[in-house]
Amino acid sequence: MKTSTNPYNGKQLHIFNELDDSELSKKIEVAHQRFQIWKRTSFVERSRLMLKVAEELKTNTDTYAKTITQEMGKPISQARAEVEKCAWVCEYYAENAEEQLQDEIVETDAEKSYVSYEPLGVVLAVMPWNYPFWQVFRFAAPNLIAGNVGVLKHASNVMQSAEMIERLFNKAGFPKGCFQNLVIGSEKIPSVLENDNVRAVTLTGSKPAGAAVASKAGEHIKKTVLELGGSNALIVFADADMDTEVDTCVKARFQNTGQSCIAGKRLLVQEDIADDFKQRFIDKIKELKSGDPMDGDTYIGVLAREDLAEDVEKQVQDSINMGATLEIGGKRKGTYYEPTVLSEVTPEMPMFKEETFGPAIGITTFTSDEEAVELSNDSAFGLGVSLFTEDVQRAKRLAPLFDEGAVFVNELVKSDPRLPFGGIKTSGYGRELSGHGIKEFMNRKTLYFK
Ligand code: NAP
Repeated sequence: MKTSTNPYNGKQLHIFNELDDSELSKKIEVAHQRFQIWKRTSFVERSRLMLKVAEELKTNTDTYAKTITQEMGKPISQARAEVEKCAWVCEYYAENAEEQLQDEIVETDAEKSYVSYEPLGVVLAVMPWNYPFWQVFRFAAPNLIAGNVGVLKHASNVMQSAEMIERLFNKAGFPKGCFQNLVIGSEKIPSVLENDNVRAVTLTGSKPAGAAVASKAGEHIKKTVLELGGSNALIVFADADMDTEVDTCVKARFQNTGQSCIAGKRLLVQEDIADDFKQRFIDKIKELKSGDPMDGDTYIGVLAREDLAEDVEKQVQDSINMGATLEIGGKRKGTYYEPTVLSEVTPEMPMFKEETFGPAIGITTFTSDEEAVELSNDSAFGLGVSLFTEDVQRAKRLAPLFDEGAVFVNELVKSDPRLPFGGIKTSGYGRELSGHGIKEFMNRKTLYFK
């Protein structure tokens, strides 16, 4: 049994019965049968249906947003933005997928040789709760348009969102079996991966979950994409435009109540401006409104579960015990954790070394470009980094030195359907979004005509 509980008021929202083994294998069989037909449908037809999905998301944004907010505590205005972004990714692939998957001619000694992109079949998506809609659409939009079919194992605490997404695809006219939600716990995933008809798996979540799923998939020689944790640095150089960049850094850390893989989690500030920047940063944080996530002007909601808030509390407290200074915040009440800033944070402290999945950030200072790069790279993760500087040449010179999936200059790291998204090191491998993402679960078939 899976339950969905509102983390703001503790009220139980829904109880879901889990699939038994025979129901589970039936759903995978339905997906496999659907794939035999779906892969032969035209891009025109698939795009038409995807645009219907976008339309539905835009028409009933509030309904979907409300479910997100109730299930995981995200402020409603941010939940609306999430739903709108899902519509965008559907529209983006409806417009671009056919061209992205065109045959690629390669000149060889053959009369004609080229690469064609063909869908693999049933793809399993194991998804987290932090963006309950976006994470799923980021997978589903490119894959369904490309001719794959999807089965979803969503995080246990957002099963209502998962069911809604399945209904949404059906309502838009996608044939039965193109996209199915599996109400199962993670202990059932090995059996899904053992099923011959499941051809690949994408997982967004933590390193332990990624390692467990990828090793099982490896046993069965199935392709994986892993989008795991991150601990992005926000690097503020002395010449940064402070008026703008304080706001950007606050947003980078505190949006989604700090529960984002690409959030800026380590604030590295050049020593000359550190005191001034810190003060402005803290002043800005004082303006963030905490409260009921259903209120339109709430910016800081609650964490999705109490144990997650406890984790952040412990990381902050342990760092203070190791010598960090508490500048603001630091208190927890149930699932709510105050926006928190620590200074004097060093690389061996949890606030620097570990991923912090909540509204807390540590400040570390640096003196030179080299030290900034070294501190940023001193992390097990490699999802992205933001540089704030008015010196474009410096940014260009430093960009190749970062061990990251993305470098953003004078902007927070963000996902955009037009750009590839993904990490290196323990942040995972493979890419989602753009023309790169849509090809991950395609057979790149070589054709050679002598
Ligand atoms: P999580 O505990 O790893 O859960 C993610 C998904 O994996 C859930 O569906 C979960 O199911 C499942 N799962 C957990 N353990 C598993 C196992 N041993 N075998 C198979 N499946 C397993 O992560 P989370 O707490 O939901 O999300 C937070 C993490 O996700 C953070 O580290 C964050 O940085 C990362 N994340 C990464 C990205 C990215 O794009 N790189 C985006 C968002 C989040 P249950 O819920 O049933 O346990």
